[in-house]
Amino acid sequence: MKKKPNYKLRRRVALIVLILIILIPILIINSAKISHIPTLYKYREYKDIVNSLYGADFTNDEVRNLMEVLKKNKQLNEIRYDFIIELKGKGYSKESINYLLIHLNRSEITKLISKKYDEDLEEYIKIEDFDYDKYDRYVAYQKKHKNLKKEDIILRVELKIDLDNYEDAEEIEDPDSLLAYVNRHRYINKNYEPSDLVEMDDKYSNNYYGVNKLRSEAYEHFKEMVDDANSQGIEFVAETTYRSFDDQETIYNNYSYEHTREETDKYAARPGYSEHELGTAIDLSNVWYIEEGDEEYEWIRKNCYKYGFIMRYKKGKEDITKYAAEDWHIRYVGVKNATLIHNKNITFDEYWYKYVKKSN
Ligand SMILES: [Zn+2]
Repeated sequence: MKKKPNYKLRRRVALIVLILIILIPILIINSAKISHIPTLYKYREYKDIVNSLYGADFTNDEVRNLMEVLKKNKQLNEIRYDFIIELKGKGYSKESINYLLIHLNRSEITKLISKKYDEDLEEYIKIEDFDYDKYDRYVAYQKKHKNLKKEDIILRVELKIDLDNYEDAEEIEDPDSLLAYVNRHRYINKNYEPSDLVEMDDKYSNNYYGVNKLRSEAYEHFKEMVDDANSQGIEFVAETTYRSFDDQETIYNNYSYEHTREETDKYAARPGYSEHELGTAIDLSNVWYIEEGDEEYEWIRKNCYKYGFIMRYKKGKEDITKYAAEDWHIRYVGVKNATLIHNKNITFDEYWYKYVKKSN
């Protein structure tokens, strides 16, 4: 007797075949993602990417060998290979991908890949001093200062301008240098005292409250400046010059008795943080402190660089110096440096970052 065909079984087989027909191509296409083991198709893709990224021309065998190395080596390398594809897919340029692969760790890249393409990041990476670790700070500062160029944002973050005053402060290593940089985040050692302080003559200094002192080189240049000014009918003297840590502490504390901490910090430096402790800063007066609008001020503004002095806290630069403008405060940095700062019309902060810090 002829057996009745098993339709139920045939239907099952047909269904399984149909599922396989659909599933197999999906598995093949996604094989690299599933297993990390590249298929021949992947080799070609990898080769294209490697060649376009690094400008080299690898043969098939070389690419195959490279892949073997990647497979044998730690997972990091394998992941990085995927990162290239992912970052390129997002739209990042060769230069950016190179930077990101070198400077970011695995979790940082994974996080970056999970976000949409960041056009600003691409622009930032092109700038010499870009530091990915500070990227969140750039973005936050840029939000508050929309008109600033990205170079300026980086410079300000490097100078810690975006931080609260006295946050992340560090002691300076070179208080004897004429270019020692003291600000709201950089302080002088409590025990520092310049070894070449000299007492100033009454002709150049108001010594009524005690004889002012200045470092000798600064004093020689100051005398020359005052003599030249006097010969042109301009009169001014040093009102205050060198202050020790203890002097500065007294000033700060006296100020704080009648003002809030916030107000005190705005007008007086905390001990250790005053340029006067370097022995090269001078507050100028002609009975009263010199201010913008005085003929003395105009003369000093035009001429002080010739004697090696700069106006340290200028109006309009408060967001960089983090000090209210002090028209009367000058500082000796040497003729060469003062001339450059004058000609470039930049703050000492910017000068220090661009020409001192970076050349060290
Ligand atoms: Zn001062």
